[in-house]
Amino acid sequence: MRTLFEGVTYLFQYTEEWALRCVIDSLWGENGMNIILIGAQGSGKGTQAGLLAQELELFHLASGDLFRQEMAEETELGVKAQAFMDRGELVPDEITISMVLNRIKRLPVAQGVLLDGFPRTIPQAKALDSGLQTIAQQIDLAVYLDVPREELLDRLSGRYICQAHQHVYNINSKPSRVPGICDIDGSELTQRSDDTGEAIQKRLDIFFAETIRLLDYYDRQHKLAQINGNQGIYQVQDTLLETIEQHQDAVVWQLAGSFSSLLPKTF
Ligand SMILES: [Zn+2]
Repeated sequence: MRTLFEGVTYLFQYTEEWALRCVIDSLWGENGMNIILIGAQGSGKGTQAGLLAQELELFHLASGDLFRQEMAEETELGVKAQAFMDRGELVPDEITISMVLNRIKRLPVAQGVLLDGFPRTIPQAKALDSGLQTIAQQIDLAVYLDVPREELLDRLSGRYICQAHQHVYNINSKPSRVPGICDIDGSELTQRSDDTGEAIQKRLDIFFAETIRLLDYYDRQHKLAQINGNQGIYQVQDTLLETIEQHQDAVVWQLAGSFSSLLPKTF
């Protein structure tokens, strides 16, 4: 890892780009890149987040897992959240934000985070931005996994899960060899109650009415990238990695621009 000092020294001795790469490396070395992955249910968001976190050594912060963990460990926030859920009410944003920020604070400073499942609304995104500011961090990039609604419906309504180990099948795209039976362990395949028609439509309605507005929010901050999620798993993964790399390059050139305007004309 090159240091900030080396970078600044090079800036005045060698080429601008090389020097700036040192500076950027050292900045990112101190604070990992924080990325949000946005996608509807059925978009493959969870799978992609897992692969991406591994590839980029980011901490995969899935809000659903975080909730379950805090409640199982009966932390102060977990107990509060549980009380709302027991009453059938939505957990207030402040509790969720606190859980997310606490988790980020416990990570090694150099490790970036991949947020999966949070934020879902503009107020949550705003609260997250100001919360991150208090710990000198920020969201660097929001990536939207774009999958058409029709395709999402096909994927979700065809989903069957085995009783024994939750192996996932899809009658449209990945059927089991014997209908209704898991290929791996022979247990019965069933549909989750929230994977039936009306429940799916309702979840997609919420996504396309509310969560989709996050795209505007991050676009205005020049932090949005949209990628085609309607391809094979590994094609999507390659596109994601390329997009993130391009974004890092763009940040380097943007900084190069602002640096060079400060330099003497003879440089
Ligand atoms: Zn199975």
